Amino acid sequence: MKYCENCHIAADSPRCPLCGGKKLREIKEDDYCFLTEMRAMEGEMLADVLRGNGIECVTMPSGSGLNTAMALPLENSRLYVPWRSLEQAKAYLREAADTETEKWRQYLLENADKLHISPKLEKKVIKKSKGACGESVTEFFQNLIVSSDRIKDGGMRRAGDDFELFCYANGDIVAIDGKTLEIVDFSLKKR
Ligand SMILES: [Zn+2]
Repeated sequence: MKYCENCHIAADSPRCPLCGGKKLREIKEDDYCFLTEMRAMEGEMLADVLRGNGIECVTMPSGSGLNTAMALPLENSRLYVPWRSLEQAKAYLREAADTETEKWRQYLLENADKLHISPKLEKKVIKKSKGACGESVTEFFQNLIVSSDRIKDGGMRRAGDDFELFCYANGDIVAIDGKTLEIVDFSLKKR
């Protein structure tokens, strides 16, 4: 396995898959490798959990200048772990993702009666799905929630405590306002 010092990632090819650089060297056990990027607060929490599980972890801020200029708390953290712990850390991330998915699935299904959509967006769904959505668009999205293999908190949409939940199911994606349960956006695979 090779290592790109520029991007801090492991690469099993002669070129770095991120920067395309060719100056890769053999990876060492202690080399810090990129694990994931997430909102700063969650990143710090995850880093703490990893450390608690005996995985060394460093975080680096990666906010955009625009967010800083607008004083928005949207700065992200990048997490890095030593190469020897990368697989273990990834397994932990997968486990955490599954837990989050089940938590949100339960929340959405418990509140399924509140699921709603604007008439304008509903028309778009009917058109895009070529009728695959059946008679009830909200029921179609309920089924999508049930079959989602990943549901995650997409973070703040506007100032305030709004958040959107993204459900991913076999190439279909739907974004739902986490508070009002309005279906706010969608992307469907070709039918
Ligand atoms: Zn690179």
